[in-house]
Amino acid sequence: MGENIPVPCEVLRVENLTVAYNGRMALRDVTFTVLGGERVAVVGPNGAGKSTLFKAIVGLLPPESGRVEVFGCNPHQERVSIGYVPQREDVDLTFPVTVGDVVMMGRVAHIGWLRRPSRRDREAVRRALEQVGLAELANRPLGELSGGQVQRAFIARALAQEAPLLLMDEPFAGVDAASEEAILGLLDRLREQRVTVLLATHDLQMAAEWSDRVLLLNGEVVAYGPPGDALCPATLRRVYGGQLTVWEHERGAILLGDGHCSGGRR
Ligand code: ADP
Repeated sequence: MGENIPVPCEVLRVENLTVAYNGRMALRDVTFTVLGGERVAVVGPNGAGKSTLFKAIVGLLPPESGRVEVFGCNPHQERVSIGYVPQREDVDLTFPVTVGDVVMMGRVAHIGWLRRPSRRDREAVRRALEQVGLAELANRPLGELSGGQVQRAFIARALAQEAPLLLMDEPFAGVDAASEEAILGLLDRLREQRVTVLLATHDLQMAAEWSDRVLLLNGEVVAYGPPGDALCPATLRRVYGGQLTVWEHERGAILLGDGHCSGGRR
């Protein structure tokens, strides 16, 4: 008898996805799949379509053609639990909500419409706030938080949701060192819980070190695979061209980037 090795399940399937804004194509013919528990870094320069891809996956943007399946369901038509941490500029900080309110929003699917949060919901919110180090700020208006704290509040919302798939759009952009540490620690804990995470970043070094697979985007998929394959000098030159110097040596490649890519290594 052979060993009973569990087959990893497919969490996300994106097939020939094309997304446009007012007829202008932002993503063309994107195809890739993600298995349960994988960590996927979505990288590419500004305007590559990283945020657009995430919005299309969570169902905020309709596909022009192609499809998205999360656990075999279409998020545009059915309710699927996906944790989503938007990019900071996509968050309306003038909306009058407290940090606790934001995190409780993650519980909506558990509570059901027009019901009051149960003790279990309140407990999930408290735990999530503690995990991101914001327990003290539960009653603080969101608009009074620093950039890093806002990011952490949205991560707490995703944790309270207890979603098996989490999308994080540039969670490290403009955050302080303490928030960066907290987010990295959380990512490790999420891995232990086998939560599937897609993380958009322009930091190639972070992508190479953190992920199981890298999706290199530039309006379309340039490469998808293990970091060492996806971030090879040839694909990087194709995407970043003159903005990036790739210095190859026997132990890998050193990337000397401009503003789009902090110097990365693999
Ligand atoms: P990234 O997240 O990689 O920086 P985006 O997904 O934000 O890239 O943008 C992809 C393309 O879509 C860019 O050309 C951008 O200008 C365009 N775009 C993004 N959001 C909008 C919008 N709301 N309206 C029109 N065009 C948009």
